[in-house]
Amino acid sequence: MNPAEKMAETGECSFCGRSREACGKLAYGPGVAICADCTENCVCLHAGGVASEPWVEMTQEQVLELLPRISAVAAQVEQRLTSWVEIARDKGASWARVGEALAMTRQSAWERFRQAPRGQDPASGPATETTGN
Ligand SMILES: [Zn+2]
Repeated sequence: MNPAEKMAETGECSFCGRSREACGKLAYGPGVAICADCTENCVCLHAGGVASEPWVEMTQEQVLELLPRISAVAAQVEQRLTSWVEIARDKGASWARVGEALAMTRQSAWERFRQAPRGQDPASGPATETTGN
């Protein structure tokens, strides 16, 4: 499965957390996705001119209940960033260019985004692995 297929298959709405199977089509943004229902809610919100600062009226318990969802979205964004890096690499981008785009060194980019060869446990990879180009 190529990175784009993997990204599409693992899609879920970043706002409500429902899977693509549950909510149908998703619109993708940079590292996030939104379903039709959440899009409609956003349109209604903006049409009404209401400021979106839900935390102002939320109780401590409501905020705490939201933390796992925010953490899940962070993991989703990280997974999608990894997929986008794979796509850039498939298109010939060097680790130096990936690092430059993300304001990190080539070495840091490679260490963060390298993928173990298919079927190989990353922990058991060769100790002498090079960073490629
Ligand atoms: Zn949604």
